[in-house]
Amino acid sequence: MTDSSTFEPVVVIHGGAWAIPDKLSSASVDGVCSAARTGYDVLRRGGTAVDAVEASVRSMEDCPAFDAGTGSVLNTKGEVEMDSVIMDGRRLQCGSVACVQNIKNPVSLARAVMEKTDHTLLVGKGANEFAEEIGIQTVPTDSLVTDDAREEWLQFMKFKTTVNVLFRSRAEQTALPSTVCDTVGHDTVGAVALDKFGNTAAATSTGGITAKRPGRVGDSPIVGAGAYADNESGAVSTTGHGESITKVCLAREVTHLMETGLAAQVASETALQKMAARVQGSGGVVTVSKDGGIGKHFTTERMAWAWIKEGKLHYGLECGENFVINL
Ligand code: ASP
Repeated sequence: MTDSSTFEPVVVIHGGAWAIPDKLSSASVDGVCSAARTGYDVLRRGGTAVDAVEASVRSMEDCPAFDAGTGSVLNTKGEVEMDSVIMDGRRLQCGSVACVQNIKNPVSLARAVMEKTDHTLLVGKGANEFAEEIGIQTVPTDSLVTDDAREEWLQFMKFKTTVNVLFRSRAEQTALPSTVCDTVGHDTVGAVALDKFGNTAAATSTGGITAKRPGRVGDSPIVGAGAYADNESGAVSTTGHGESITKVCLAREVTHLMETGLAAQVASETALQKMAARVQGSGGVVTVSKDGGIGKHFTTERMAWAWIKEGKLHYGLECGENFVINL
């Protein structure tokens, strides 16, 4: 941690990459804007980057429009299994949970793994037992399941595919009726922040992909894939086709590119181009560099995003959008 308070606080949010159906678009945009305000308030009051990204992600886990916490998508058995990660750029501390059920806010459990255990990742039953031990809020898993998630699951079980195909080419998607493509709401959430002390942090949370195999863990809880934070470069949270993101360690790829001198935006674009070229995967990232540079980019049709710096909230959903509100 640096001693001086000379950094302009920044928070950057994503609400998941994919087409985002029209019926969820305004809820997604409202959700990311509200998450950005929540995180920025924490930073303005002198909170740390870790506090800010946890608060932002919690607010989106509680919003049923997103595939994280309440609103998580369902596996082939019709069950919720959630993944989350948080990373503190000061000393590269990190914590993750995977395949957890009946946890209202998986990001807070991930933070507890980071701060209260000697480990970096807890999964399934062990993670749930740890949650009970330390008094993290549990809820009936059914209370996390929304009607939209159930409807999406029914569609995908009917056509015996996973939402995986939606991150692939249009040609591969023709196997699916348009009703499926038009109704899925596939919205992992993530946040990155820079606090006034110059510390960076990143967090990501997801229910994964609809009709995944039970036990499937995607990129989101994997450090370097779903998120990465290092005060010496910056912080990144990712979203998109998990298996592709894992193969290229997308978040770490972005910080690596910033280490070579690229700006946050160029690093974000370059890393996603590499993922498309090497493994034909699509997705999105949000980035903040150690000096407050902002990056956000996606290779899917839409990604809800928002960021706040110097009292201005920027947000958008479609490529090229950049709405601005003075706070
Ligand atoms: N990356 C997530 C996963 O594959 C999904 C997403 O970001 O939408 O689990």
